[in-house]
Amino acid sequence: MVIALDGHSSSGKSTLAKDLSSLLSVSHIDSGAMYRAITLYFIRHKVDINNKSTVAYALESINISFKVVDGKTVTVLNGSVVESDIRTMEVSDLVSDVAAISSVRRYLVSQQRRLADAQSIIMDGRDIGTVVFPEADVKLFVTASIEVRTQRRYDELKARGVEITIDEVRANLTKRDHIDSTREDSPLKQAEDAILLDTGSLDRSGMIASATKMIHEKMIKNNV
Ligand code: C5P
Repeated sequence: MVIALDGHSSSGKSTLAKDLSSLLSVSHIDSGAMYRAITLYFIRHKVDINNKSTVAYALESINISFKVVDGKTVTVLNGSVVESDIRTMEVSDLVSDVAAISSVRRYLVSQQRRLADAQSIIMDGRDIGTVVFPEADVKLFVTASIEVRTQRRYDELKARGVEITIDEVRANLTKRDHIDSTREDSPLKQAEDAILLDTGSLDRSGMIASATKMIHEKMIKNNV
C-alpha cells in the first residue's frame, strides 16, 4: 500500500504523515528531508548548483538513508545523523533551488521508488502523487492559507530556539511555494485523483480524524 501526501510547506503534511504512520503501522518517508540532505551536502562542499557536471559528480558521493533513534525516524547523510542540520534556515533558503534541478530529482525519485519496493509506505512531499507514485492507493493534497502556515512554522522554529521574525518565515514559505509550483520538472500541484485536505481550521487530532475518514472512504471505493 502506498499513501501519497503532497502539499505546501508547513501545511501539516509531515505531522499528519507521522501520525498516520503510527496509527496504521506503516513506514513514513519524508521526501523533503532527502532534498534537504542533498542541499546540506551542497552547502558543506560548496557545490556550484548552476554547474551540471559538478552537481552530477557530487550526487555520486551522496548516500541518504533513515534510521530510528529513540522512536523517531531521523535522516542520515553519508553515515551521520543530520536531522537538525537539514532544518536550518540556510538549508530552507536554498532547498527549492536544489529541488528544481532535474538530475537531483531523478536521483531521489529512483531512491524513493526503491524504498516502496519491499514495504507499504506513507510518503510526503510535493510530487509523490503526480510523479513518484502516480498509482498510489490513496493521495491527499494538504494545504492551508499562507498566514496559517507562517504562524505554524514560526511557532515551530521559536520552540526550537531559532532567532527569526515572522516576516522572514513568511518570505521563505512564499518563495518556496513559488519555486516549487512553477519549476519545469515535477511542479507542486494537486494530482487529479488526490483528495484536498485544508488543515487551516484543524488541530493535530482534527487533521488525523479527517484524513483517516477520507482514507477509509477512498479505500472502500477502490476495494483496497
Ligand atoms: O517538505 P519540506 O518543506 O521539508 O521540503 C523542502 C523542499 O524540498 C520543498 O520546498 C521543495 O522544494 C523540495 N521538495 C520537492 N519534492 C518533494 C519534497 C520536497 O521538491 N517531493
